Amino acid sequence: MIPGPTYVFQCPQCHNLLTRESLVSGNTFHSTGYSDGKLIAPMLPDFPNLTKCKKCNHLFWLSKLEEIGTFNYGEKDKLEWQNADEAEFLSIDDYFRALDSGFIIGKGEEGFVRQQIWWAFNDRTRAEGIIFTDNNDESLYIHNCLDFIELLDPENENEKMLIAEVYRNMGNFGRCLELIEDIRDDELSGIVVNLRSECGKKNRWVIPLEKVVQPTYDGDD
Ligand SMILES: [Zn+2]
Repeated sequence: MIPGPTYVFQCPQCHNLLTRESLVSGNTFHSTGYSDGKLIAPMLPDFPNLTKCKKCNHLFWLSKLEEIGTFNYGEKDKLEWQNADEAEFLSIDDYFRALDSGFIIGKGEEGFVRQQIWWAFNDRTRAEGIIFTDNNDESLYIHNCLDFIELLDPENENEKMLIAEVYRNMGNFGRCLELIEDIRDDELSGIVVNLRSECGKKNRWVIPLEKVVQPTYDGDD
């Protein structure tokens, strides 16, 4: 893994500095893929695009800001930048705040945010924790799943596979099985076998897989 320069940005509201690291190259050694399309690759870290200012809570896309500069680790004349806040991924509450705030534009951005919410809840299962802490959590999860399905294209086999997985995560095993029975793409046949087996066991939660479905929304648009 070869790190690239760190980019420095300014919050558009309060001008607080924040940084985002970059990568020249990485690899998928020791990575784990999951049935919801998320790939966790320690040697290929992901950096946030949608983030918030830690000082004033303002939400923004880093890709829509012009960086004010870059530095490489250890440059002594850039200490103020090196001490700036590091941009972080949003919490589930902040993703919902982003959807409610009206600054998420179009299907691409909404799909990205809803996918992040789905993954962030599933991360609790990946960490072997409890996915829902109260009834409201489950209701938010289900509503987000239903809205996310509307943003996926069932004519595309890859996206159809994701829709099937969303239904399984909602506990709708019948709909998941119906959808995967129609999938003809040989590349996806291993995942079909896995999901069919989990539906048989009435397991609705995300599972690690040998091969993952490519997620549709990467958030870098
Ligand atoms: Zn700010």
